[in-house]
Amino acid sequence: MSLKYCALCKRNVEPKRAIGIGTLLLVLCTFGFWLLLIPLYRKKCPICKTTLLSGIENSIEDKKVDEIQIVETSIDK
Ligand SMILES: [Zn+2]
Repeated sequence: MSLKYCALCKRNVEPKRAIGIGTLLLVLCTFGFWLLLIPLYRKKCPICKTTLLSGIENSIEDKKVDEIQIVETSIDK
């Protein structure tokens, strides 16, 4: 269980590999050899299917940026 931050959904999601019928056919065609390649599949957001996933830390960094912007605007006044 490893959560990632989805940039499109703007929330933490559990990434999943998209293994469909195409993958199963490739496994059959390669006599199971393709199973070795499945771990190399890029994990996708289960909600919007994007691969634009980053660490959860990024959402915390965004908050830090907001705080810096608030400080800058208060200096202007
Ligand atoms: Zn998403």
